[in-house]
Amino acid sequence: MNDDRPPSPVLTDKDIDRLTGKTEQVGECTVWTGMRDKDGYGRISWRGRSVRVHRLVWEHLHGPLPAGTILRHTCDNPPCVNPEHLQPGTHKENAEDRERTTVMLRHLDARVSRLEQEMKLMRETLLAKSNGKAVRGLSVNVTDPWGPP
Ligand SMILES: [Zn+2]
Repeated sequence: MNDDRPPSPVLTDKDIDRLTGKTEQVGECTVWTGMRDKDGYGRISWRGRSVRVHRLVWEHLHGPLPAGTILRHTCDNPPCVNPEHLQPGTHKENAEDRERTTVMLRHLDARVSRLEQEMKLMRETLLAKSNGKAVRGLSVNVTDPWGPP
């Protein structure tokens, strides 16, 4: 089942050279420039098997990932192999992350449409003013007892 599990996560200096030669520093992220799978994760042929690079790097540093555990990217950047951006978690937590993002996007969409409505209203008000209605508003101000004499 666990095809992703590297047979031996212990990397030699040569392996590390080979890996770092296929990365590019983009901001805080160490982005894999080699082969990627359909999910955007870096893949490498490792001792005859195809494994995910970020997992190989993480297991090299921390040992084998416990069964039922997955590696999550705290930077939301699947090709990133920076071990500091990798955190073990469960599928459930990953799904919750995704759910949070979806909810956040929904809120953002609602805010954008509210802003669009406000802008439309502002535009209509400005247009109405330039059509002479603002002059009528001004004459009211002149007779305002609280206004300047
Ligand atoms: Zn990253």
